[in-house]
Parts: sequence; C-alpha cells; structure tokens
Amino acid sequence: MPTLAEKKTTRPSRPAPELIFGDLWEFDPAPETADPKLKPRYDLFIDGKFVAPKSGKYFDSINPANEQKLAEIALAGRDDVDAAYAAAQRAFETTWGKLPGRERAKYLYRIARLLQDRAREFAVAETLDGGKPIKESRDFDVPMAAAHFFYHAGWADKLEYVAPGRRIAPLGVVGQVIPWNFPLLMLAWKIAPALAMGNCVVLKPAETTSITCLKLAEILRDAGLPPGVVNFVTGAGETGAAVMSHPIAAKVAFTGSTEVGKIIMRSLAGTEKKMTMELGGKAANIVFDDAPIDQAVEGIINGIFFNQGHVCCAGSRLLVHEPVAEQVLAKLKNRIKVLRVGDPIDKNTDVGAINSREQLNKITAMVASGVKEGAELFQPACKLPSKGFYFRPTIFSGVSMSHRIAREEIFGPVLSILTFRTVDEAIEKANNTAYGLSAGVWTDKGSRILKMSTELKAGVVWANTYNKFDPTSPFGGYKESGFGREGGRQGLLDYCKLV
Ligand code: NAP
Ligand code: MG
Repeated sequence: MPTLAEKKTTRPSRPAPELIFGDLWEFDPAPETADPKLKPRYDLFIDGKFVAPKSGKYFDSINPANEQKLAEIALAGRDDVDAAYAAAQRAFETTWGKLPGRERAKYLYRIARLLQDRAREFAVAETLDGGKPIKESRDFDVPMAAAHFFYHAGWADKLEYVAPGRRIAPLGVVGQVIPWNFPLLMLAWKIAPALAMGNCVVLKPAETTSITCLKLAEILRDAGLPPGVVNFVTGAGETGAAVMSHPIAAKVAFTGSTEVGKIIMRSLAGTEKKMTMELGGKAANIVFDDAPIDQAVEGIINGIFFNQGHVCCAGSRLLVHEPVAEQVLAKLKNRIKVLRVGDPIDKNTDVGAINSREQLNKITAMVASGVKEGAELFQPACKLPSKGFYFRPTIFSGVSMSHRIAREEIFGPVLSILTFRTVDEAIEKANNTAYGLSAGVWTDKGSRILKMSTELKAGVVWANTYNKFDPTSPFGGYKESGFGREGGRQGLLDYCKLV
C-alpha cells in the first residue's frame, strides 16, 4: 500500500474522497503551557508527612512522549509499607474512625475543591508523566477525579442509606494498588469511597505514573486531613505485593491486569481479607445495520483510539452487522487517517504516547501476531515523533474469533473487526471471551438495546455511546474482569461491613 506521501505525488486531478481526508493541513503546535509544578524528587507520603524511603533508593519517572526524566520517586520497601500501615491503623483508631460522617464529608469536599483549583496543573502533570493527550487529562481525568470526591462527600453523612435497614461499619485499614492508565482517576475511585465510609488507606500507584498521586498528597495535607488517614507508598510490583499481603489490611482493592490479580488472589486465599478486583477487558462494540453509522464511527474511534487504547473498557473488538460492514470499515479508515498522533501536551493531539517502552513492545508483538495469523492490517501513514513511545492507530479487518488479537487484551490503539449476521450471533461472539467488563451497542431499536444489555455478560453496556462515566454509576466486571464495584451505592458497600 502506498504511503500518503507517495499518494500525494501521484495525485489525480480530482482526488478520490479518501485523499481529501489524507491531505489535511498541519496545525501549528499548541502546547498547553500551565506549570505542572514538579519537584525534582518525591518522597513517600506517610503519616501526613513526606518521608525518605528507609532504603534511601529512588527510581526515575520519565515522560514517555520524549523519554526525558521528570522526577525521582522513592522506592518503598517492606519497612516503609509497615510504617504506612502502622500510621493508618493509628489514624483509624484515634481520629478518622471516630469522626462523624458529616465531618468526614467536609474533608472530601475540601479535597475536591482544592483539586479543582489546581486542575490545569494536575492535567499537565498527568499528561507529562503518563503520555495521555492533554485534552483527555484536562477534560476527563481531572474533572472526573474531582467529581468522585464531591460525590462521596455527599454520601458521607447519609451512609445509613447504603444498606437500608442494616447497621454498617467501616472495615479499618484498606490496601490499594492501581495501574498507570488513569493514575489520578483510579486513585480517586479508590480513596474517595474508602474515606467516606470511615476507612484509612495505604495505596501504591503504578511505577511509571506516581507523580499525580504524590501531588495529591500535597492537597490532602493542605486540606488538613488528619495524619495517617491516607498514605502513599511508591515502587514496583514488590511494593504492591507488600501492600496487598500486609496483615493489618482488612480489605485489599486492586485495579490492574488479570494476571497480577490472580497472583494476588492466590496469595490471599485462606485469609479473612475482603477483596475487590478490577481487572482486564476485551470489550465488544456492536454495530447493527440500523445504527446511526456516523455517530457509531465516532463512538468506535473514541472507544479505542483516544487515550491510545490504554483503557480497560476500550472497545477493542468491533462486531459489525454484515450489511454495513464495508461501509463502516471505509468510514473508519478515513477517520483514522485524520487522527493527530503525537506530542500529548499539544491541545490538538488525539492519540498521545504509549505509557512505556515495555507496553509499546507488547502492542508491537500483538500486532505482529495479527498479521501472522492472517488478519488484514490498516494503518494511516502519519508521521510519528522520532523520540518517545508511539504507535500508529491500527485497524484489523477479517479477524476471526481464534485470532489472538480477538481474544487477548492489547491495551493499545488497535481495533479488531469481526462481522455477524444475527442478533444471537452478535451476543454469542461478544460473550465468547474470558473477560466481561464493558460492551457497546449501536442500534435504532430500543427493544434490541434492552435485549442486548440483558444478555451481554459485561459490567457496563453503553447504548449509542461509549466510554461514558459518572460517579453515581457502579463500574466493575464479570468473569476474569474481576469482582466488586466502584462508584455508586454498590461501590460503598464494598468498603463497609454489615453489623
Ligand atoms: P499490572 O501490571 O497488573 O499493574 C497494576 C498495578 O499492580 C501496578 O501498580 C503494579 O506495579 C502492581 N503490581 C505488579 N505486580 C504486583 C504484585 N505481584 N502484587 C501487587 N501489585 C503488583 O497492570 P498494568 O499493566 O499497570 O495496567 C493495565 C491493566 O489494568 C490492564 O489489564 C487493564 O485492563 C487493567 N485495568 C482495569 C481497570 C478496571 O477497572 N477493571 C481499570 C484500569 C486498568 P508496577 O507499576 O510497578 O508494575
Ligand atoms: Mg512517567
């Protein structure tokens, strides 16, 4: 297939429709300029203070858009995790566990307001550290994180309605580990309900994206949160394992890969710890022939390419009704030609940087497997920056259920397209996966939406839209996508015991 540059040189006098899209003009750079206020070095946040790790060891956090070092992050060892749990237990017994809900609400409200005050700064820090486009962190991650604190502030003095007719009590200290794809948002999902319920927290962010977590520690301190209520221990998998297996933890909440989730579950089998697991996904986005096709195409693009496909509920499998399959594929190809791939800090960027070299290698290997197994690959000829980790938006057509790209999570900007003829075939194919986190349905028929949302084994089913979130709406998986819910009343139930 000729590259776009080659196409330009052989351009016919009246360009074919697809070339009109391919020849989009370039925009001038439009970088977001807010100061992310980064420190050269970040310590652990334990007992309300920033403290050096006992080992004295630090690791680098880099900007995946250009591979430059952003800051040094403390590496927490088992001793530091012990200190964090001891602080959390003290706080639970002496301050937080004794505060009435209406007082806890004030802290949560204050955290939300302080985060809003510093929203632009946090958005830039999130984009620099993780690689997601600034328009995502500015318009989604940071406002949604603040929304979670506001929402749970609203619950803290109304907890008797979480389980009407029952008395509830906090669990104590909870251990939490989160991934790199939504560093600040996953943190909000974890700590806001835990605090509203009266628990104290020890949390480990992902190794590649610790910065906004440690910036949030500044907000917790400025909000006057009592020392030890929330503690952040940074580090890699070993630190995470120490957080999950700590004897003081009454509950552990994990968001990450199914593989690591299984390791944690095995290691905790037989203990009395409560657990919630938010794991991987391989969502089906299902388009029927009566769907509003242009709207569906936008939803498919939003579902898999924005945020580089680094989304657990990404619509990574497109199931399209045969009568419209060709039309949808042609429109998708045209659309991905005009996605702007590049520097995530630029306000025009649609697809930013892949979070790490390791993740880029995984995506590259999965795409190679798709080609090897016989699926048809399409990528636009966009220019990628010479430094940093980038991957072209990729569409595979002619995919069958046995292909790895149809079964395994890729966690990158890669869409696998399959077709179906009947409603039952669509349901069968969508459910034919080890995962069950989310799904999308595009159709004009309300009755079909109801049937699909009943029969699809997925925690969330979006209808004629995709990737929409709200703190009031519980989120979580079926099957190997995990168990437990985050958000809504159901999310709070996972942070209390019924007494
Ligand atoms: P991951 O490799 O499982 O890592 C997740 C977190 O666990 C990181 O903080 C990681 O630390 C830590 N960790 C690694 N090994 C551990 C161990 N043995 N014990 C305890 N903690 C350990 O996942 P990821 O690659 O960061 O994230 C992508 C995955 O998260 C995808 O599968 C995605 O679907 C899933 N996800 C699910 C949801 C959901 O709500 N269901 C939401 C977002 C993401 P390091 O960073 O140091 O490795
Ligand atoms: Mg980083």
